[in-house]
Amino acid sequence: MTIPDPHPDLISPTRPVPLDASAPPIFQASSFLFDDYAQIADVFAGHSDRLVYSRGDNPTVSELEGLIVRLEGTEAARGFSSGMAAICGAVLPFVQSGDRIVAVEHLYSDAFRLFETVLRRFGVDTVYVDGRDTQAMIDALPGARLVYLESPTSWTFRLQDLHAIGQAARRLGVISVIDNSWATPIFQRPADAGIDLIVHAASKYLSGHSDTLGGLVTGPRGMIARIDDEATHLFGGRMAPMDAFLILRGMRTLRLRMQTHMQTGLTLAHALKKDQRVTAVHHPGLLADRPSGPGMLMGFGGLFAFDLAEGIDVERFCNALQVVRIGVSWGGPESLIIPGQAACGLAGANVFRRFGVSPRTIRLAAGLEPATLLLTDLLQALDHAQTVTA
Ligand SMILES: *Cc1c(COP(=O)(O)O)cnc(C)c1O
Repeated sequence: MTIPDPHPDLISPTRPVPLDASAPPIFQASSFLFDDYAQIADVFAGHSDRLVYSRGDNPTVSELEGLIVRLEGTEAARGFSSGMAAICGAVLPFVQSGDRIVAVEHLYSDAFRLFETVLRRFGVDTVYVDGRDTQAMIDALPGARLVYLESPTSWTFRLQDLHAIGQAARRLGVISVIDNSWATPIFQRPADAGIDLIVHAASKYLSGHSDTLGGLVTGPRGMIARIDDEATHLFGGRMAPMDAFLILRGMRTLRLRMQTHMQTGLTLAHALKKDQRVTAVHHPGLLADRPSGPGMLMGFGGLFAFDLAEGIDVERFCNALQVVRIGVSWGGPESLIIPGQAACGLAGANVFRRFGVSPRTIRLAAGLEPATLLLTDLLQALDHAQTVTA
């Protein structure tokens, strides 16, 4: 698969950088000062866009917001302190009591909990639809306020036809939101499919080094202005300058890292699919038939899942791994697994129980280690975990 390279400015900043530095500076400042009364009065009267306070704008955060806008082909963006803060920022400003959200099944577990707890308490009802069924998605849209997508979905890695759903949503006046953390704009540009708002957990691939949390929302100028009024200023979960700096730093290698995550993920997925001790592999790259069109998947992230056969002990499998570590999150250099069996035990609103993820499912984030090393590790762990010999 060839990867387009419309993103030369990932490598170095296109904007002038103070003192011609090769990397953007961190403006580690909470506020910005004024020379006199007139200067501050002008700002509050809306006559000047001087910087005021970093909960509003900070130049390091703005640098990252500009970059995601260029990559996603959108108009404006806002940075948040985490992916969840970005999801709240993208959804909460647009809904009120009595509204209905249409969401895909198998969405990110904490987004599901947000919809099922906080939003339900405020009178917003969410219905869940199998996103693979484009007609069912479109049929659910009339009268809805917002449609929430994740393509591929968490744990099951199911795809949606973003173009068909995006166009239908636009026709019906329904705001469309997608979590694009898995594909990143390197492999998927949902704005080209007609999706309004794109959310990123920058904690994952964008930062890429497991050393920071962050979130981004990007989309049309008008919608981002509304998000800015309410989410950035009033909820206040704003991205910090240091986090923006780290994410910018990570993104200089995003294209290279995504190529490696894709290749390694595909290598492992294909090998596991051939192994009799694995009953299913959930990876969009293994689908015979994928929705395609403007803005949709041009490549694959390295995160996928597989189901262990009966006779393979989940706990023993996890404990036998020597290179792949056990841990939540993904998108960093190190390969990680998380066993569904452990996550199923969560109390309360639970995406596993609601939509039926098998307790034998293992989610694997293929990192940047050599693929052969990872495969050897997975196969030896399968050997160890075999409770009955065939
Ligand atoms: C991790 C994740 C999030 C949340 O991001 P945080 O930075 O951890 O809040 C949102 N969506 C997806 C798909 C994720 O995997």
